[in-house]
Amino acid sequence: MSAKTPAEAMKVFVLNCGSSSVKYQLFDMGDESVLAKGRVERIGTDEALVVHQATGRDAVHATGTILEHTAAIQRVLALLTSPEHGVIRHVSEIGAVGHRVLHGGEYFSGSVLVTPEVKQAIRACFDLGPLHNPANLAGIEAAENLIPGVPQVATFDTGFHSTMPRYAYLYALPYVLYRRYHVRRYGFHGTSHRYVSERAAALMGRPPAELKLISCHLGNGASVAAVQGGASVDTSMGFTPLEGLVMGTRSGDLDPAVLPYVMAKEELGLAEISSMLNKHSGLLGVSGVSGDMRDIEEEMEKGNPRARDAFLMFTYRLRKYIGAYAAAMDGVDAILFTGGIGENSWRVREEVCQHLNYLGVQIDPDLNRNGQKEKDIATPSSRVRVWVIPTNEELVIARDARDIVLKEKEKAGA
Ligand code: ADP
Repeated sequence: MSAKTPAEAMKVFVLNCGSSSVKYQLFDMGDESVLAKGRVERIGTDEALVVHQATGRDAVHATGTILEHTAAIQRVLALLTSPEHGVIRHVSEIGAVGHRVLHGGEYFSGSVLVTPEVKQAIRACFDLGPLHNPANLAGIEAAENLIPGVPQVATFDTGFHSTMPRYAYLYALPYVLYRRYHVRRYGFHGTSHRYVSERAAALMGRPPAELKLISCHLGNGASVAAVQGGASVDTSMGFTPLEGLVMGTRSGDLDPAVLPYVMAKEELGLAEISSMLNKHSGLLGVSGVSGDMRDIEEEMEKGNPRARDAFLMFTYRLRKYIGAYAAAMDGVDAILFTGGIGENSWRVREEVCQHLNYLGVQIDPDLNRNGQKEKDIATPSSRVRVWVIPTNEELVIARDARDIVLKEKEKAGA
């Protein structure tokens, strides 16, 4: 790593604010190390949980009343600067704050410095991301108040997919719905797909511009992206994170006509059907056991037929998407696995890859099951490389925040 100037080596505080949680990491961008990380859960209750860990030291756990995001972040900043558990002396040592924001609509294609106009655009996307965007904005405003004068940068989950062509992002619905209500495919997990596709290109020693990659982010939420020449050209999540793959508790793709049919039969309202699709479907809905892949695999080993159905539906849908994206890009150089399942489940990777012979994919079963976390599991003669790459969305957010703040400083000095 080349030597960093003091400005480049700034400390960046990364925040991921959900409706009742805050996750954070403090980076030293000198060597991109994590100084401390943690989370606050159950915000809005008097049983909020704070878990804070300074790197190399024991984690601190505490519970208490934390009613909103400002109080949560205030608590985190107190821990970061405390003589006992802290890693900095004063919040003024933080050079930038990077925020994960779910939905940038059609406003943002990349990370941006937070301004009043940017906040207005995040607000304009509340309808599109009703659970996340209000919490993301609350986090931004809390950080503005608590760390005044420190630049804030927003990185959007949708941003990386803004390069999708129109024929990939439009739905075959009356066009007026797109014009009036912005109903189109946006895609999510963009920061993760961007990180693993850039990392794969670096590991392969090839410029991203030359590569056709299929990135599979498989966590509780799961999506696939086709990344051609370093840009996302298609992805499986759409208007919301419900479309596409079978997920932990989400259905992914289905015939929309099922909805009015089930709603009529079961006398369900809109909130109930939405809850069914998002919280009671996917691996959980099919298996009746769990939405967690570890449990599904364990049950399958014991001979539970519905857990086996769930596993095979998950992997079958994934390999159909891989085939579709190889077709979309007219070829594929590498398939990338990331997220909790993608990084850890050798069974999922094996089941998917053993049916991709027609693409020239061949994996080494031993490499797939053993070895380090970041690895190429394809055989030397495989026509397509297959990489397992642990994702690091926080690092992307920290790098973007640092780069944008440095550029702003340059502009101001020029
Ligand atoms: P999130 O999308 O909430 O960030 P993660 O990326 O942490 O979630 O992924 C969680 C999923 O990863 C769960 O389904 C979990 O069972 C799965 N997972 C984690 N470790 C393993 C493992 N060793 N084998 C199989 N699945 C695993």
